[in-house]
Amino acid sequence: MLRISHYLRALAGQSPPPRTSLPGSKQAPVVIWNLLRRCNLTCKHCYATSADSVFRDELDTAAALAVIDDLHEAGVKVLILSGGEPLLRDDLFQLSAYARARGFFVALSTNGTLISESNIEQIAAANFDYVGVSIDGLEETHDAFRQLVGSYASSMHGIALCRQRGIRVGLRTTLTQENHAQLPQLLDLMREYDVQKFYLSHLNYSGRGKRSRQLDAHQQMSRDAMTLIFERAWADIQAGSLSDFVSGNNDADAILLLQWVHRHLPEHYPQLEHMLHAWGGNASGSGIANIDNTGEVHPDTYWWQHSVGNVRKTPFRTLWLDEPDPLLQQLRQHPRAIGGRCSQCRWLDICNGNTRTRAWAEGDLWGQDPGCYLSDEEIGVRPQSNLICVQS
Ligand code: SF4
Repeated sequence: MLRISHYLRALAGQSPPPRTSLPGSKQAPVVIWNLLRRCNLTCKHCYATSADSVFRDELDTAAALAVIDDLHEAGVKVLILSGGEPLLRDDLFQLSAYARARGFFVALSTNGTLISESNIEQIAAANFDYVGVSIDGLEETHDAFRQLVGSYASSMHGIALCRQRGIRVGLRTTLTQENHAQLPQLLDLMREYDVQKFYLSHLNYSGRGKRSRQLDAHQQMSRDAMTLIFERAWADIQAGSLSDFVSGNNDADAILLLQWVHRHLPEHYPQLEHMLHAWGGNASGSGIANIDNTGEVHPDTYWWQHSVGNVRKTPFRTLWLDEPDPLLQQLRQHPRAIGGRCSQCRWLDICNGNTRTRAWAEGDLWGQDPGCYLSDEEIGVRPQSNLICVQS
């Protein structure tokens, strides 16, 4: 995750640089915990392939409380409660209260449709550090994506209720061909609803091997979206607003931010480059961990096909810190041993090879990330098209 506003605010001298530890260093991760898979919606790109039914073998209340103790013992400090839809879990407030009492930073990640007058007092009393609500476009686009007419209105109503109670809220949007043109208006919603945070998530997009027109369009779209976010973040900082813009699932965003600063704030370029080296790029399997609804532990939320063990059987500290499996060890190498154009990229130290699950979808876990939108020139590689094949 790239904390854009934090870096820009540090450049403006308004805050210290974000605290970082390089991917690969021995550290307790941020844990994204899918408390259940059941959801009242069936969104098109749901990584948890949720449905409105009860799934087997999920952690019950006693087991979930034990996981909180286990994570505390391992030194975890940040817990993001997700799903499925976490508000469908009867013991959500019991679990969050227990985690808060143990000193965790606790965030709730929800689709927002179940936040209503009937539970807003409970949500406010839970004292979540942050409530993140997914909004995937303006009303028609969002409802089509969420496959439920009225879901946009319900989610925005939930956001308004949270803000009325002073709860810190963030919008989370996954960038797609369907919603990218609406990004300016989505960002305007922050001001309209007094929302503090915006998380732009890139699609875990696979380009099917070759550069295609569709891939080029997608990559230009990503660049345009990021440029708009940089501009908004900087304008807010200049205006004294405390808004917080972050992006995820494409660590090349850091290089694009560097280029933006080079163009607009050239005197700050060396400081930003230094901070981004300290950040170190993609942190799946080191700074980020995922626990699914049955207690299986994964390198992050997009890695449900690989488990490093189950917290019902083995302490999290053992799985994550003391005896990490071979995949975790490979992910923690910094910079990672990545092939293709990443291997020659001058920014590998900062980006760390980006998103491995996208490369995996292309058939090579340690191949270049097809989601990288930087040109050969931008990464310091001579374009392949310059090579001339001479046949005898
Ligand atoms: S080429 Fe690879 S290492 Fe370089 S910025 Fe792109 S994804 Fe990152």
